[in-house]
Amino acid sequence: MEKNVLIIGAGAAGLMCAIEAGKRGRSVLVLENNAAIGKKIRISGGGRCNFTNIHTSAQNFLSSNPHFAKSALARFTPQDFCALVDKYEIPFHEKKLGQLFCDQSAQNIIDLLKKECHQYNVEILLEAKVTDVAKKDLFCLSTTQGIFQSQSLVIATGGLSIPSLGATDLGYRIARQFNIKNNPCRPGLVPLTLQEKDLRIFKELAGVSLDTLVTFEGISFRENILFTHQGLSGPAILQISSYWSPKKTIHINLLPSADISCILQAHQTKETSLKNFLKDYLPARLTEILCTHFFENKPLKGYSLEQLQQIGKFLNNWEIIPEGTEGYVKAEVTVGGIDTDELSSKTMETKKIPGLYFIGEVVDVTGHLGGFNFQWAWGSGYAAGQYV
Ligand SMILES: Cc1cc2nc3c(=O)[nH]c(=O)nc-3n(C[C@H](O)[C@H](O)[C@H](O)COP(=O)(O)OP(=O)(O)OC[C@H]3O[C@@H](n4cnc5c(N)ncnc54)[C@H](O)[C@@H]3O)c2cc1C
Repeated sequence: MEKNVLIIGAGAAGLMCAIEAGKRGRSVLVLENNAAIGKKIRISGGGRCNFTNIHTSAQNFLSSNPHFAKSALARFTPQDFCALVDKYEIPFHEKKLGQLFCDQSAQNIIDLLKKECHQYNVEILLEAKVTDVAKKDLFCLSTTQGIFQSQSLVIATGGLSIPSLGATDLGYRIARQFNIKNNPCRPGLVPLTLQEKDLRIFKELAGVSLDTLVTFEGISFRENILFTHQGLSGPAILQISSYWSPKKTIHINLLPSADISCILQAHQTKETSLKNFLKDYLPARLTEILCTHFFENKPLKGYSLEQLQQIGKFLNNWEIIPEGTEGYVKAEVTVGGIDTDELSSKTMETKKIPGLYFIGEVVDVTGHLGGFNFQWAWGSGYAAGQYV
């Protein structure tokens, strides 16, 4: 079967590209490994899909070229996606920090994409795993459902995270096959694990969460952290995990709104114990652990000013070297991927192979937590859709 455009992957990026190409009257077939489209959309945002972020800018992305995403993000904005959401009268709300979620279910977004595909005559073939790609005059794809040919080929295979949802390394393999540079991949937006010695102390805090400022090599996020049975999670940890590299120290300010050294020193004459005093500032279970394993617990007046300063320093700058991450099984995204130098930022077409495009998460553009990854998928899919 021959089409103008073949798209591998019926996720956010592939479907958006298909809709836009369909609008231009191109014949489009989307090939999808899974038995349903948009499996990641369905589970995203805790089932409510954080489909965009109204504050999206290139600063919300990691990439070896931080300017690359600007063009696509400018040509398809969060407001453009909201217009589509409004067209289908999907109720949504801002949760926090510009993050837009469906009121009801992520299925609303999948239905929206399905209806748009139908309107513009996009064909979708499910349970069609692409195994090989060859290029002569046309691209020729071998799949579990036969052979397909096209003038344009769009790789929208996503990243490596959550293998049970159909992730494959096909996009990266195709890049290697066509001599297209691929930057090393690693799990991002992923919980961190603690070293055995730390885990022994902190695992009993599993479930405790608190507002913090987490910093790694000059990058900071002010959000909650969550203690888990394996280590640390919560939005601030997920965000920093995309930047963290093994064996390096993460700094966690457990009291980001207070200079706790000064506060402790101002109360140095008090009878109250350190543990009781800190309970006004930190979760009681955390205070308990800190006063058992890190500080002596005695009345504040029993400490020297210098000792109180040391305690404050610890709380405002807890230094921890994680053991690792929970890996692709738990990661929301894959950091790294197709090197942006290989692609046109306007069309997403590869510079080396005319007609070959890469969009979405498979590209070395990774968003922060908060709807940015979908906005990149919509934006890069839209950009390619105008040219395929
Ligand atoms: C648990 C979780 C929650 C998330 N929540 C959010 C959120 O709320 N907001 C946000 O912005 N981002 C969120 N993300 C990230 C977001 O889902 C992804 O960045 C986005 O889905 C990427 O879109 P994509 O189209 O590039 O890839 P994908 O959505 O991964 O789609 C790729 C598709 O390609 C198919 N495929 C792969 N290989 C083949 C092959 N060989 N043959 C045929 N088909 C193939 C896959 O089956 C898949 O359907 C979340 C991710 C996870 C894992």
